[in-house]
Amino acid sequence: MSAPENLSSPLGLLAELTHRCPLACPYCSNPLALDQRADELDAATWARVFREAAAMGVLQLHLSGGEPASRRDLIEIAAAARDAGLYTNLITSGLGIDAARLARLKQSGLDHVQLSLQDVDAETADRIAGYHGAHARKLAFSRMVVEQQLALTINVVVHRANISRVSALVETAAALGAGRVEIAHAQYYGWALRNRKALMPTPAQVAQAMQEMESIRPRYAGRLVIDMVVPDYYARRPKACMGGWARRSLNVTPSGRVLPCHAAETIPGLEFWSVRDRPLAEIWRDSPAFLAFRGTDWMREPCRSCDMREIDFGGCRCQALAIAGDAAATDPACELSPLHTIMRKLAESDASTDDDEYQYRGRSAAELAIAIPVR
Ligand code: SF4
Ligand code: SF4
Repeated sequence: MSAPENLSSPLGLLAELTHRCPLACPYCSNPLALDQRADELDAATWARVFREAAAMGVLQLHLSGGEPASRRDLIEIAAAARDAGLYTNLITSGLGIDAARLARLKQSGLDHVQLSLQDVDAETADRIAGYHGAHARKLAFSRMVVEQQLALTINVVVHRANISRVSALVETAAALGAGRVEIAHAQYYGWALRNRKALMPTPAQVAQAMQEMESIRPRYAGRLVIDMVVPDYYARRPKACMGGWARRSLNVTPSGRVLPCHAAETIPGLEFWSVRDRPLAEIWRDSPAFLAFRGTDWMREPCRSCDMREIDFGGCRCQALAIAGDAAATDPACELSPLHTIMRKLAESDASTDDDEYQYRGRSAAELAIAIPVR
């Protein structure tokens, strides 16, 4: 398939500066095989990528990881983003940045901070993160962000261990001074797929959480934006994953591969081009991975003749692969998919187990024993 004549510009770039992270979340969106430090792009290459992105029309840059603060040259990288004219958001666990480093990041042009919390309860939060003391450090970091008058979003991935505390999570975000809280359900590929039995919430938990959100939303109107939607496995229709494959944004991995979404490498057979070899605009336009599911030509029935095909773009390709074993299938989150009932039953079956042992990302049992005593 060739790129359409009317191909629009991407709006957002997610720059995964490193896969290194002090935490070990069992739902981490990083791949099972993490990029090594020696393979990471240097700051000069990131600066070139940011200039190319801005020239293409990208407005927002998300500095992500892993933990981006693991990069000693993070300030240099943030300054390059400012020089390219991008609005820059730092997605962080809050570990590894003290007040002085945060001040330098702000001076270098950082606009916004997105801090992840694992729970409101410190003991559970630390168990989920696989790091003793992480929660307290996150709270301290959030205070620094507000004191330095940087915009703050709190991000929480919810699953069976914490979804019963969504109201308390929103209250905590408001108390910390956030302007937005994003409550995202775990997405079941990569590490989360490996931990699905321990993470999947029950239908009753999800229904309760959605009801709580609706009832507390008016209380925060005008002072805290609350984002939370029904998770795919208990939904009737899918979401337009990434706003449609290769339509709005791109991800660059620590070693420079360019992906249409952060989980795209779970799909076998896709060819990803690298910013080491080609300009970003050429990759956006012509990369085989971007062309594979861009638009609607690749669709089969029931998506091909469905009125929703240019609204949800058939849902998530990675989820279609994980459940249907075929990335070109209709996302089983859609009730028109022949696998919709199977997906729901899978979720209910996983949710009914009492398995709560996590397989933490990227850590051996010995390393984890040092970070936190596992129950
Ligand atoms: S999800 Fe957890 S382990 Fe993964 S990068 Fe974020 S903080 Fe680190
Ligand atoms: S059939 Fe395809 S296009 Fe139609 S609603 Fe379902 S996923 Fe969306």
